[in-house]
Amino acid sequence: MKGRSRRPVVLIVGAALLVVAAGAWAAWPRLVPREVRREAGLNVLLVTIDTLRADALGAYGDPRAQTPWIDRLAQGGVRFARAHAHNVVTLPSHSNILSGRHPFGHGVRDNAGFRFPRGTDTLATILKRQGYHTAAFVSAFTLDSRFGLDAGFDVYDDGFAEGDAPTAFALPERSGVETVAAARRWLAEAGAGPYFCWVHLYDPHAPYQPPEPYASRFPDDPYRGEVAAADAALGALLEGALAAGKAGRTLVVLTGDHGESLGEHGERTHGIFAYETTLHVPLILFAPRLLDPRVVEDEVGHVDVLPTVLDALGLPLPAGLPGRSLLSLATGRAARAVPTYFEALSGQTTRGWAPLHGVTTGGWKFVDLPLPELYDLAADPREERNLAASRPAERERLRAALSAFRAQDRGPARSGEDPEVRDKLRALGYVSAAAPLGKRYTPDDDPKRLIDLDAAIETVIARHRAGDVLGALTLCEEVVARRPDMPAALLQLALLRRKAGQLAPAVEALRRAVAVSPEDEGTAALLGSYLNEAGQPAETVRLLEPYAVRPEAGLDTLVARGAAFAQLGRAREARATFDRAIAADPSRALTLVQRATVEMMAHDDAAARADLEAAVARDDRLALAHHTLGLLAARRGDDAEAERRFRRALALDPAHYDAMLNLGSLLARRGRRAEARPYLEQFAAGAPPSVYAHEIARARAWLGKIASN
Ligand SMILES: [Zn+2]
Repeated sequence: MKGRSRRPVVLIVGAALLVVAAGAWAAWPRLVPREVRREAGLNVLLVTIDTLRADALGAYGDPRAQTPWIDRLAQGGVRFARAHAHNVVTLPSHSNILSGRHPFGHGVRDNAGFRFPRGTDTLATILKRQGYHTAAFVSAFTLDSRFGLDAGFDVYDDGFAEGDAPTAFALPERSGVETVAAARRWLAEAGAGPYFCWVHLYDPHAPYQPPEPYASRFPDDPYRGEVAAADAALGALLEGALAAGKAGRTLVVLTGDHGESLGEHGERTHGIFAYETTLHVPLILFAPRLLDPRVVEDEVGHVDVLPTVLDALGLPLPAGLPGRSLLSLATGRAARAVPTYFEALSGQTTRGWAPLHGVTTGGWKFVDLPLPELYDLAADPREERNLAASRPAERERLRAALSAFRAQDRGPARSGEDPEVRDKLRALGYVSAAAPLGKRYTPDDDPKRLIDLDAAIETVIARHRAGDVLGALTLCEEVVARRPDMPAALLQLALLRRKAGQLAPAVEALRRAVAVSPEDEGTAALLGSYLNEAGQPAETVRLLEPYAVRPEAGLDTLVARGAAFAQLGRAREARATFDRAIAADPSRALTLVQRATVEMMAHDDAAARADLEAAVARDDRLALAHHTLGLLAARRGDDAEAERRFRRALALDPAHYDAMLNLGSLLARRGRRAEARPYLEQFAAGAPPSVYAHEIARARAWLGKIASN
C-alpha cells in the first residue's frame, strides 16, 4: 500500500492534467478548480514584512519557526509556494508590489537616490478613485513619504523617529507592535465604505534584536526571533479576518519585500545577490469568501499582486501592466508559465560592481553577470551548482527571456537626494554613494568575486555602530586598499576618519570618491560640507559650482554652498543660495535656520526671526533654532527671552557648547554668578579646543576670577 501510494498519481480534472505527489492525497479534492468568484467593495489589507525569507515561516516548512498567525492565514488561504520578488531591496520592491510594474517600468532601482514617480498609479491611487478609504502604516525610513509611495493614501503614517536629528547609525524605524497599533486605531475610526490598508513591518531587518520573549526563545537565531516578533505583532491585525471566515469582508494579501541571505553565498543581509535566500518571498491570499484553501506551485511574482487584487474586486485592469491576476491559479486552474524578471543593482549603484539582472522560468534561474549563473531550482534549491557552462541550451533560452525584459529598460536614472536622506540611509547601512553607471564590467567586477568586501563593509558599519571607531577605521582602510574605486567604501572611510578627528584625510577620501564618480552630486556636497568644516569654503564654492548651476541642484549641494558663501562673508550670495534650498524643500526646518544665520550676518534681524520662528513651528526640537533665537533676543536686549531660548536649546542638546557658553555668559553678565558657574565649568571642560580655544580661555579666566573672589 505504502509503495503504491508513493507513485505520482495522475488526475484528469476537466481539461487540466495535474500531477500530484503521493503526500498530497489528502488534499486532492481541493485541486478541483472552483469557479472564480469576485466581489466588489471588499476591504483590502496588504501586509508586507520586510526582509522575510519564505523559508523562515512555519507555513513554508520551517520547523523552527514560531509564526502561528501567518501560518493560520496560509492554512485558511491560498499560499503561493514559489513567489518571487523582482528586487532585493525595500523601496524598489514595494514600488513593484504597489504599482504592479517592474523596476524599469516605474524607475525605482535602489533605495538611495530614487523616488517613485508622481502620476504613476498604485493600488492606493486606483482604489482611492473607487471611493476607498486608504491608509498606509510603514515602519522604516526607506519608505518615508518623501520617496513617493504616499500618493493615493488619505493617511500615510511614517511617524518613526520624526523630530529627531538624523544621526549616523541611529535607526529610524518603529516596532511592528507600534505600527500595528497605529493601523488598528485608524481601522477602528475608518468611516463607512471599504478601505485599503497597507501595513509594513520592519522587525526582521538587521540588526536582529528581538524583544522578549523572542530573544530568549531564539538565543542562537535572532533573525527568526524577529520573524516571530513580527508574527506576534500581526495577531491583533489578523485575528478579526481569521475569526470571521467566510463572513469576513476583507481580502488579506501578505508578502515579504525580499528575504535575507544570513551568510549563504557569502552575503550577510540582502541587496547584492539575488539567490533564493533573498528573492523567494512568501505570498498568501486570504479571502475565504472568494477562495478556498490551496497551495499553488506555479511561479508568480510581485507584479501579479495588483492585478489580482483588482480582479478580486471585479475592477478592470489598467492597460500595459506586465503582471496577471492570480485568481485562476488560486482557484486551481492551470495557467501558462510566465518568466519572472529580477534584478539587484545596489552593487552597481553604490559599489561600482557589475549590475545583476536575471530571470526565472520553468524551475530554471539565469543570472546575467560577467560570470553568468544558471540553476535548476528543483534539483538544486540552494543554488550550489552553477550549470551555465554545462547547460548552454537552457542558458540561452533564459537569456533570451531576459533580453525581452531588458529591451524595455532605459537604465537607472537617479532623482535628487537631500542630506537628511543620505544621513538616514547611511544609518540603515545603505550607504548611498553613487557609482558610475555605464562602464564595461569584467569578471573582476562580478559581485561573486567581491562579496567578501561587502561583508567587510558590513563589519565596518557594525563596528562603527557599536562605537568602535578605530576598529572600523582600520578595517575600512584595508577594504579601500584592496579596491580603491568603491564609492561606498570611500564614503565610509571619510565618515570614520572625520569621526576619528582626521578631517584632512577624510577630505582626501571624499576627493577620491568624487573623482571616481563625479556625477554623484551627493558625495560632492558632502565633500563641500567637510571642506567648510576644514576652513576651506572657497574650494567648496568652486567644487559645487557645476552642480549648483543646474536647475535641479540638490538640497545638500545648495546648503553646503550657501554655508561656504556665508563663511566667506558673501552674505548676498549665501542668502540667494539658501532661498533656492528652501524652495527645493520647504518642509526642512534646518535650512530655515541656516538662512536665518545669513540674515543675521546681513543685520536683517526681522527676516532672521521670521525664519527661525517658522523653523520652530515646523520642528520644535531643533536645538540650533532655539539657540539662534536666543542670540537674536540677546541682540535686541531681551535677556529673559535669550535665557529661555538658550535653556531650551541645552535641554534638547545637552552638548550644545554654544548654548552652554552663551547661557553661562548671559548669567555672568547679569551678576548671577552661582548660576553661571556650572555652565562655564562644563563648557571649559568639554568643548573641543580646536574650535573654541579662545572661548575656553575666556571662560577659564572668568572662573579663576570668581574662585579668587
Ligand atoms: Zn526591505
